[in-house]
Amino acid sequence: MAISKKKLVLLIAMVVVVFLVFVVISDNTYTPDYLIIADDDHPVSAEYASALEFATASNYAGTMVNIEKRAFKACYALVKALEKQGIVVNVSDGFLDDPKDDHGTGLGIDLVISKDEKWLDEPDELLAETEAFETIHALLPEYGFIVRYPEGAESVTGHGYEPWHIRYVGKEAAREIADRGITLEEYVR
Ligand SMILES: [Zn+2]
Repeated sequence: MAISKKKLVLLIAMVVVVFLVFVVISDNTYTPDYLIIADDDHPVSAEYASALEFATASNYAGTMVNIEKRAFKACYALVKALEKQGIVVNVSDGFLDDPKDDHGTGLGIDLVISKDEKWLDEPDELLAETEAFETIHALLPEYGFIVRYPEGAESVTGHGYEPWHIRYVGKEAAREIADRGITLEEYVR
């Protein structure tokens, strides 16, 4: 079938319009996969990472931290809620450019705790803060977070207990994961 020049121009114009509409729509419906798993067997794709929209803030150590924007907003609200309960927390790590790590999702966050005017940011210091983490973990689902590497789930997650590493999954998933006492892996399976 022969296509006239006029028809061809029209066709190209239509393709451009469709593309533009697609770009606008996809921007308005920005929804990263909040249940994404990043590990050795499931590296995060370059498409996923490049589509992430970040919020950036300076942390307790003066380091700039990037966190996916909805996770950031939720984390900010969590920090404020904990402050009211007398627990001062901050963030040590958010997004890290590692496709095989939960931090590569932009949704994983490491917390640090302020105690006696000192920031506790070493694993052994944080593991000793069982009482503070009990309070922190109880609040997580309300803000859409879970403990990404819970105690006793190493065979499922491949990680030992990390009470400081929280992960944004959205409120619905967070509530169910907490209520059932399961991991993100078991939830998405
Ligand atoms: Zn972490």
